Amino acid sequence: MQIRFRHSFAAIIQWFDADHAPGGAAAMRDEPDRVDWVRCIPFIILHLGCLGVLWTGWSPFAVAGAAILYFARMAVVTGAYHRYFSHKTYSTSRPFQFVLALLGGTTVQRGPLWWAYHHRHHHQHSDEEDDVHSPHVHGFLWSHVGWITSRRNFPTDYSKVRDLDRFPELVFLNRFDAVVPAAFALAIWCLGRFLQAHAPGLHTSGAQMLVWGFFISTTALFHGTSCINSMAHILGRRRYPTGDDSRNSLVLAVITLGEGWHNNHHRYQGAVRNGFYWWEVDITYYLLRCLSWTGLIWGLKPVPASVLAEGARLDHHGSVEAARTAEHVHPEYSSLKKIVPAAAAIAVATVNASHPVLSRRAEAPGILRDASSLSQGAGRDRAR
Ligand SMILES: [Zn+2]
Ligand SMILES: [Zn+2]
Repeated sequence: MQIRFRHSFAAIIQWFDADHAPGGAAAMRDEPDRVDWVRCIPFIILHLGCLGVLWTGWSPFAVAGAAILYFARMAVVTGAYHRYFSHKTYSTSRPFQFVLALLGGTTVQRGPLWWAYHHRHHHQHSDEEDDVHSPHVHGFLWSHVGWITSRRNFPTDYSKVRDLDRFPELVFLNRFDAVVPAAFALAIWCLGRFLQAHAPGLHTSGAQMLVWGFFISTTALFHGTSCINSMAHILGRRRYPTGDDSRNSLVLAVITLGEGWHNNHHRYQGAVRNGFYWWEVDITYYLLRCLSWTGLIWGLKPVPASVLAEGARLDHHGSVEAARTAEHVHPEYSSLKKIVPAAAAIAVATVNASHPVLSRRAEAPGILRDASSLSQGAGRDRAR
């Protein structure tokens, strides 16, 4: 009883200071999985806040605002938290790195170091026992939402993000991870109040904007992002035989602005794009490419030619296999066997023709399974 009271008291302090861990963060991480209901109260409030729509109603402006804030902040989750802080797939200055962390705070997905630590851990142990959000090990619901409610998953393991914890401003945002979300919610409420007073034709209010722009948009953003942890290891097609069950899905790529090409990403994590081919829509990559033209970011890392060639080869084999299977299932269409392999061969030749350097390039490294190398390579890849 006394321990439970101590845990609850610590959880309340952790709402404001995420690094508060009386028994030590390492000891917390070694505990068995157990939902920490007190620690989760802000997360529960986030969901319950959506019900505020019963009182505030809706307006076209508020709904459009929620949609814009969903996609804008999804671009931040994928472009900043995932492709910069977790994988360092491009470079930037120290001031703009801070801006990325600030924008990341508005997504209400905790601090950049916590996010990067958990994500790197996922790549190191994908779909193994230690993967805290594998749907194959822990079930769909736990992989989607359960894991973030577990007491052991709340602390940040700073030893896994040594390349990031050298920056005190990032550590501050990571430790006091409620500051930016609170300021963001307040700013949205103020915007609604301002529009209510100065643009009454929009029929919105502070409370209505808070419900749509913060609670509904942020809750949707959480579940959209979580689909990658849960659905992207269940739903879709596997191009690369990675050691996990990651998959590629157009639907998930649309919802998450490019993260749905998850099997590609598990094959090669060091690239700024997850959609490896022109037909794999990757909005985050297009936005980062545009941002690079401003000079705010640079050094966007491409997909190695050998990985692209491997993918084209695997797609070709896949087409041939599909034709053989179709021949058995529908012998009346057996003439397809003459057409489909030929079509696949033409596709491979086209890809090769558009990448004439393929044969001259050195082989790319294998699967970048150990994402902790980012941490060790901090000295080489530091933001200026
Ligand atoms: Zn994954
Ligand atoms: Zn990743």
